[in-house]
Amino acid sequence: MEDFNEIVSKLKDLYSRTPKHFDGSILGSMTTWPHPIGVYAYQLFIHVNGNDPVVFPIVQELEKDLLATIGSLYGSRHGLFTSGGTESNILALFVARRVSRSKSNVVVAPSTVHASIDKACQLMGLRLIKIPVNPLSSVDPDVLEKHVREHNPFAVVVTAGTTESGVVDKVKEVSEVASKHDVYLHVDAAFGGLLIPFLYKHGIVDTDLFFYPGVSSISVDLHKNGRAPIPSSLLFFKDEAYVDKACFEMNYLPSGVNCGLLGTRPGASLVASWAVVKAIGLEGYEKQALAQQEIALHLFNELHSREYIEVFKPVLPIVVWRSRLYNYIDMIKKLFNEGIFLYKSPSLQAARAVIMPHVTREHVDALLKALDKIHERSGFN
Ligand code: PLP
Repeated sequence: MEDFNEIVSKLKDLYSRTPKHFDGSILGSMTTWPHPIGVYAYQLFIHVNGNDPVVFPIVQELEKDLLATIGSLYGSRHGLFTSGGTESNILALFVARRVSRSKSNVVVAPSTVHASIDKACQLMGLRLIKIPVNPLSSVDPDVLEKHVREHNPFAVVVTAGTTESGVVDKVKEVSEVASKHDVYLHVDAAFGGLLIPFLYKHGIVDTDLFFYPGVSSISVDLHKNGRAPIPSSLLFFKDEAYVDKACFEMNYLPSGVNCGLLGTRPGASLVASWAVVKAIGLEGYEKQALAQQEIALHLFNELHSREYIEVFKPVLPIVVWRSRLYNYIDMIKKLFNEGIFLYKSPSLQAARAVIMPHVTREHVDALLKALDKIHERSGFN
């Protein structure tokens, strides 16, 4: 057994060598530095099992309040707290299958859906038909309808803020297709859920995120733009009855039921998420969304002014670009060596920076400086 103090000093060393969002190095991930009230709440409620609302009634109380606050943006308070976008997406398709009258096992989605939809389909033995779309465009509702007619799916999934380019599918138009053909529609707003309602209000994006009549579920991650500690996501349903379909019998528990995919789960993350949402408030998320978008535009304009870069105009605060000199994987590797971590946008053969709430203009300027440096060395500038 190692001495406690030795473990602490090893942990401190490991911590000092672990990148932190506020140092400006993490520019590709959709994670962010959690709000301090969330860290405090997490520690305080570290012992709480989110799977046991009888022994820990706080779990149900705060989940209800959290769903009501965030759900007011989309017009539903029915749903559940989950561990992230992946769990929410798997669960949405699971519920879709349970409530669907159709015998089909087909899911139709644009090719831009997150890989967790592929995962969900693999896990449940579903057939995923992908509609090929330009990663810089939303799916054409007429093309989607053609696929619905042809493949008779029980569910359609679209994305409000795609992973690789931040594109927002046309929720309202797609919901009309879903209504017309009586198909379950899940909207994956893991990234865009806490951006779109505000950016739409300010006329910055042209698609709103709402429970239009044909929408059955919407997922929104709080550990992304919500600034809650990981793991944290909400899955909303149009109907209260759908929530029960995400639950299973578990007789030995005092409640007798278990909702969601996990069993024992960090109740601390639910309490922390609730505290963070209280501290920031919807007005705080609105300000944050506008600030993220402004920094994204600054990055876009700066990249646009550089001859050696080809950059795509951002819809949400995700900026995607290619180098005219390096292939995107090499460019990402070179920036990695400069201490800047970006992610790939393989469908566009490009690099991607996500302007999360922790990203400042200074971080973006350091990225630009590093880009200038790697291109200068090769004599491009
Ligand atoms: N959906 C979208 C659109 C995403 O961008 C992501 C992650 O980036 C996910 C789902 C999966 O979320 P998580 O990593 O929290 O499981």
